Amino acid sequence: MYLILLGPPGSGKGTQAERLCKELNLPHVASGDLFRDHLKRETELGVLAQNYMDKGHLVPDDVTIGMVKERLSRSDCRGGTILDGFPRTLAQAEALDSIFQELGQQLTGVLFIAVPDDVLIERLSGRRICRNCQTSFHILFSPPRELQTCDLCGGELYQRDDDQPDTIRARIKVYHKQTAPLIKYYQATDLLHEVDGNIDIDRVTDTLITVIGSLGP
Ligand code: ADP
Ligand code: ADP
Ligand code: ZN
Repeated sequence: MYLILLGPPGSGKGTQAERLCKELNLPHVASGDLFRDHLKRETELGVLAQNYMDKGHLVPDDVTIGMVKERLSRSDCRGGTILDGFPRTLAQAEALDSIFQELGQQLTGVLFIAVPDDVLIERLSGRRICRNCQTSFHILFSPPRELQTCDLCGGELYQRDDDQPDTIRARIKVYHKQTAPLIKYYQATDLLHEVDGNIDIDRVTDTLITVIGSLGP
């Protein structure tokens, strides 16, 4: 099962991917997490990506595609995967089609999580992430038991540098311009399934599981 979670920043892709991966026993491939891992290790790719991420812009397609292709080629993705945050441009979507073809894999479905812009700003400003396992919390909507500690692994929670008002606005703009066209791209192949992401976290998960259950092989 190869699934894409598509949606604006803050729509809940990371939160839902985490849950779906557990439920379906699939690896979670999140391009943002891959970039942040490079950044932490101070690799050449990480240093390059940081300039774009800090501004809320997209990292160039060639670099991003290369990184995700390498990840999808690893053996743990042979039985399927949940892609979160990739593709984000038409060029990436086209490249992904070729990658799947090369690897003999087939896209099962694209789950588009719809959330209005004003809600996104609220969500991203209150987001806290675990430094250790990358789980997302929200100070109001999904609060950790202890303010600075991950419920799952005890790791330290932090606020991402790009979860500041100016950068949030830039990211939402970039989403509408560069990523939203993917909705039509996947509608054209009948792979797109829209779900309402503006309801509570558990209900979004239930809806997604129902939709996934209805997808063909
Ligand atoms: P969010 O979950 O808030 O949407 P991500 O963690 O997915 O954010 O991405 C953080 C940043 O990493 C993006 O703003 C962008 O700079 C970079 N990035 C992540 N995925 C991609 C991608 N597919 N193409 C280009 N840049 C990306
Ligand atoms: P994305 O990966 O799409 O950028 P996240 O999964 O990181 O989004 O969610 C963004 C923020 O919103 C997090 O703080 C998360 O806890 C919170 N959140 C996610 N889904 C919901 C929801 N359905 N209702 C309220 N808050 C949510
Ligand atoms: Zn954790």
